[in-house]
Amino acid sequence: MANHKNDGGGPTDERRKLGKSDRTRRAAVCSFCGKSHREVGPLIEGPDDCFICAQCVELCQSIIQQERRRSGTLPAHIGSVPSPREISEFLDQYIVGQQRAKKTVSVAVHNHYKRLNAALENDDSVELEKSNVLLIGPTGSGKTLLARTLARVLHVPFAIGDATTLTEAGYVGEDVENLLLRLIQAADFDVEAAQRGIIYIDEIDKIGRTSQNVSITRDVSGEGVQQSLLKMLEGTVANVPPQGGRKHPEQQYIQIDTSQILFICGGTFDNLGEIIARRVGKGTIGFHESGSTQSRAARESELLNQVTPDDLIEYGLIPEFVGRLPVFTPLMPLDEEALVSILTEPRNALVKQYQKFVAMENCELEFTDGALREVARRAMSRNTGARALRAVTEEIMLDVMYELPTRGPGFRYVVDEDVVRGRKDILATAAKLKESA
Ligand code: ADP
Repeated sequence: MANHKNDGGGPTDERRKLGKSDRTRRAAVCSFCGKSHREVGPLIEGPDDCFICAQCVELCQSIIQQERRRSGTLPAHIGSVPSPREISEFLDQYIVGQQRAKKTVSVAVHNHYKRLNAALENDDSVELEKSNVLLIGPTGSGKTLLARTLARVLHVPFAIGDATTLTEAGYVGEDVENLLLRLIQAADFDVEAAQRGIIYIDEIDKIGRTSQNVSITRDVSGEGVQQSLLKMLEGTVANVPPQGGRKHPEQQYIQIDTSQILFICGGTFDNLGEIIARRVGKGTIGFHESGSTQSRAARESELLNQVTPDDLIEYGLIPEFVGRLPVFTPLMPLDEEALVSILTEPRNALVKQYQKFVAMENCELEFTDGALREVARRAMSRNTGARALRAVTEEIMLDVMYELPTRGPGFRYVVDEDVVRGRKDILATAAKLKESA
């Protein structure tokens, strides 16, 4: 058993020698929550057979921090809120394209935090209104990345949840409060910080009223889930069970006010374009007609740019829910060119990352333009947007990464189109670098 001893007490060593404390420790439970080490992991031992688990330590820390804030020792601000332009420029470093989404979200988020700071300064001349955001776009177009990067620029805690795992209370599945627990965990149990955080809820389109996503264990209509999310989105004081899972009566809860949390919802909303097309009177052209994938994607983008709340309601979201997501913006499908940029341009671009690894072994790595295009084409064929880029690149780089440290320094590895197609062995064709020859 992995009990940690409190250094302050000499008697602990004595007891260990006598063997008595081994028995005590085996039966030890956290003196605060009453759980055993099997349930909560290592316990820290204090004097007189007193124990505490990591979760209770975190909880205590959060209580102390809240108290300090209340007494004014710690600031509750997120500092000066970056301007929409600054936010957007930060997003540009990580997210390729999606200019409209970046701009819309930057303005919404800037205003959201500006209003919060005004509220903290007791400036009630402006009524605080939440600007939760809905991102509509295909898989792998950067919805999650956008939400995550926003949290980074604002230095606020961030958590991700999936709407399809959520259920109305009473059904099998996760309570919506678990989303809040994840945010509290991301904030290291600092509830004040969590209250200013961002939660991204993915697959929000799958809980539509008319969803085909039928399951016997969960609320099949999805409407109940929308209802339970509604309260959270609007702002409520929620009771979150600190250990997660379902609520039960004897449990102690962490109280968290969601009125300042920024919710960003995302979904692919497949076939939403058809609903928009019908409304704008263009029939369903562009969806079932023949034509290149490229032109269909362009037409779909054009339609998505015209999305209105009514289209979302027709899609199956309940009107109150749509009302709670006043900012919505489409993200466009990424074309080959965009995928090539994603491979090379962002600060954490895959190619840059591999080059860094290779440079750490004093070798060089180059991807030719042809190789980048071929990788992008392969990724596109998987229909998961930029998400497939990592898998495709990993496949190509596996042999190099495996052999790199063994082969030693001074090699130049070139990935060209033939390497990507598996027609050429990148290891066999690596040239010795001149300097170290
Ligand atoms: P979504 O949430 O839209 O399904 P993600 O944001 O999870 O997609 O994207 C998956 C991965 O693909 C990201 O981690 C990122 O590496 C890459 N990616 C997707 N879209 C972009 C983009 N517009 N710019 C840069 N990288 C992107």
